[in-house]
Amino acid sequence: MTEEIADHLAQWPPFAIEITLYGRTRETYEALTAVPGSYDRCLRGIKLLKERNLPLKLKTVATSVNKHEVLAMRQFAQELGVEFKCDGQVNPRIDCSQSPLATRLTPEEVVALDMTDPKVVEEYHKLAERDLHAPPNLSQVDTVYICGGGVNSFALNAYGEVGICVISQQETFGIRGSSLRAVWDDSLQQLRNRKRSRLTKCVQCRIQSLCAMCPANGELENGDKESPVEFLCEVAHLRAAVVGAEIPNHGDCEFCAGGMHHADMLESARRVVNREVDVESWTGFHQVLPILNNSSVAVGGCGSCGSH
Ligand code: SF4
Ligand code: SF4
Repeated sequence: MTEEIADHLAQWPPFAIEITLYGRTRETYEALTAVPGSYDRCLRGIKLLKERNLPLKLKTVATSVNKHEVLAMRQFAQELGVEFKCDGQVNPRIDCSQSPLATRLTPEEVVALDMTDPKVVEEYHKLAERDLHAPPNLSQVDTVYICGGGVNSFALNAYGEVGICVISQQETFGIRGSSLRAVWDDSLQQLRNRKRSRLTKCVQCRIQSLCAMCPANGELENGDKESPVEFLCEVAHLRAAVVGAEIPNHGDCEFCAGGMHHADMLESARRVVNREVDVESWTGFHQVLPILNNSSVAVGGCGSCGSH
């Protein structure tokens, strides 16, 4: 962010500007970015945007490297008077380098972090109920993509290439020498309408809405848009178990009853529900588990998962 860009944005204010904080100290921030000087540049950018009253939001991705500064980052956002979001979802780099995954929180920590937000807990309950009673989204269509990417939005990168979204960047289409309209109507729509090649365990899964698995994550982590990401699958099953949702069998799934990781997943759910996974000390948020306290998970096992 430079003075010139900040002035331009002030002249043409966008709907929102989001900046990711990687830490609240130079040491932590640059341990994660591995870019010397990036912490000071980030703070300078925030200052330039705030001075112009631009619609700034701050967010962070909690990792094993910076989680001890989540609370300080949140306080910094409060001091600035801007919204702050914290997520535990670390993706590979968009060039598919897997190096960021070394800093991922454990699935238990990701779900325990979710449970610090009452709105998120409530939403997971609603989504799990909806998925249980309605045919899963992926089973209703035969396309690889089922989201709004390429339908009501697209991403334009710094090289003038259009893609489905900022994460799905393995297939992009240049608009230089063509036009945005032509790319949108032709190449992007062909990609968006591509048919899936096979039935995976995701197709009939009834906890799809609790899961971050999507074509972008499949291609980033497995090199294949349709290949389920094990980490995301574990997190989704753990979420479902923690909120007491039923998980009907959906094929050859290692986290479902009978699967090789099912028992471990149930033990993780028990630990989250019994608050044995500490997130409060680094987020400053208290875990809220209003419904879980009445669920069978809370007393040492997941009744919903164990029942199928
Ligand atoms: S991240 Fe996944 S769900 Fe979101 S727009 Fe991209 S492909 Fe679709
Ligand atoms: S990755 Fe697992 S939890 Fe996620 S949609 Fe596929 S089967 Fe369901």
